[in-house]
Amino acid sequence: MDFDYDLFVIGGGSGGVRAARVAAGEAGARVALAEEDRYGGTCVIRGCVPKKLMVFASEYAGMVEDAQSYGWDIKPGAFDWTSFKGKLHAELDRLENIYRGILKNNGVESFDQRATVVDPHTVELADGTRKTAKHILIATGGTPSIAEFPGSDLAISSNEVFHLDALPEKMLIVGGGYIACEFACIMNGLGVEVTQYYRGAQILRGFDEEARGLVSEEMCQNGVNLHLGTNVLEMSAEGDKVRVKATNGDETVFDKVMFATGRKPNTDGLGLEALGVELGRKGEVKVDEYSQTAVPSIYAIGDVTDRVNLTPVAIREGMAFVETVFRGNPTPVDHALIPTAIFTQPEMGTVGLSEEEAAEQEEIEVYATSFKPMQQAFAGRSQRVLMKLVVSKATRKVLGCHIVAPGAGEMIQLAGIAVKMGATKEDFDRTVAVHPTMSEELVTMRQPVRRL
Ligand code: NDP
Repeated sequence: MDFDYDLFVIGGGSGGVRAARVAAGEAGARVALAEEDRYGGTCVIRGCVPKKLMVFASEYAGMVEDAQSYGWDIKPGAFDWTSFKGKLHAELDRLENIYRGILKNNGVESFDQRATVVDPHTVELADGTRKTAKHILIATGGTPSIAEFPGSDLAISSNEVFHLDALPEKMLIVGGGYIACEFACIMNGLGVEVTQYYRGAQILRGFDEEARGLVSEEMCQNGVNLHLGTNVLEMSAEGDKVRVKATNGDETVFDKVMFATGRKPNTDGLGLEALGVELGRKGEVKVDEYSQTAVPSIYAIGDVTDRVNLTPVAIREGMAFVETVFRGNPTPVDHALIPTAIFTQPEMGTVGLSEEEAAEQEEIEVYATSFKPMQQAFAGRSQRVLMKLVVSKATRKVLGCHIVAPGAGEMIQLAGIAVKMGATKEDFDRTVAVHPTMSEELVTMRQPVRRL
């Protein structure tokens, strides 16, 4: 049977665009892509990129204070949200155009409309046009999820936070994951009075306990009003503000309330289940290690599969899909030892097992040091950093590396290579320190602080 295309991709985010570009541009396939919103997806339009620019913006107030300690005669001025927001969105427009350009230059036909799947080889566009393809790739990503409760419609999510008309004076952020913690720090840095509610005992559940404990401590030191074991009961409008009743008995009025309580895969109304594509409890597309669904011609990559919801992982999955399907080289996706960073202040960079996970698996040695870094200590700050290695007693391999420090994201990218290569503690020790840096501590820790 003749198809209109070799591949039809639904979703123009990081994963979908990469798969389409490589399939068309390098593997010579006839490819089309449909995107109902903006090209670039969550990462570029309403996630990593604008978030990181806001992280940068939020760090200047502290830098100006520190500069004074270094002898600079400068004073912090006011932060102008309107001016920043204008530049931010101009940058996002520029990046979106680059994404469109990538598709066009690689010969991918794009459709600026929603697409749904009607049979294993046919998609239907919003205008009713049907297109056939030998393979269909679902790369529709995810969307913020907020549980329903009285007044939940008054909450904003991370999607709206980049579009605020004005910075709130007083803001509540709900959740204890990546997004909640990052935005608590960003808003705090921009001068907003931030309260954060997290229902559990400590933020950043699942990460190394010592590391998340330090992040939490430093966030509080920096002025985030963090309430652990606390959730929202109900909310009501009070003029253009929001009155919030919390489980700890507090009743407070905030200018804005942002929920960052997880994300759910975008599969509603895509037509997948009717075709026999298996969906999980959250609506995620179930796939095998080659990103293939239960319907052989349909594949799925990225957040819609709810495996590891990170941009570089979606890109890897897209590349592996093309290698498997268009180059005859079956390539499973390697989800082991993925380094990641949480852009809180201070940042956390992490790869491999937490101390707790490793100790459950085997006997370990823990090497850790926490200290006041030179640059901030000189400026009179009490901020501490953490460098930590979790080492297998039997093989001496570094099972986990956890860094809490300014620039931890940059550091963990490099430490991640060593850990991925299977470096032992002795390999770290053989490496000469770069002095004076914070990360030199990773190669100079002699005695374990704990054996478990
Ligand atoms: P997470 O799943 O990381 O965190 C969700 C948080 O919300 C958890 O603290 C969770 O609590 C809490 N929560 C869930 N449901 C409720 C509820 N009904 N009431 C109150 N609290 C609730 O999601 P995020 O939205 O922060 O981020 C989504 C994903 O995006 C991340 O997992 C990550 O993969 C990705 N991301 C990566 C970034 C990076 O690489 N720097 C940055 C931002 C996002 P509990 O712990 O108790 O379950």
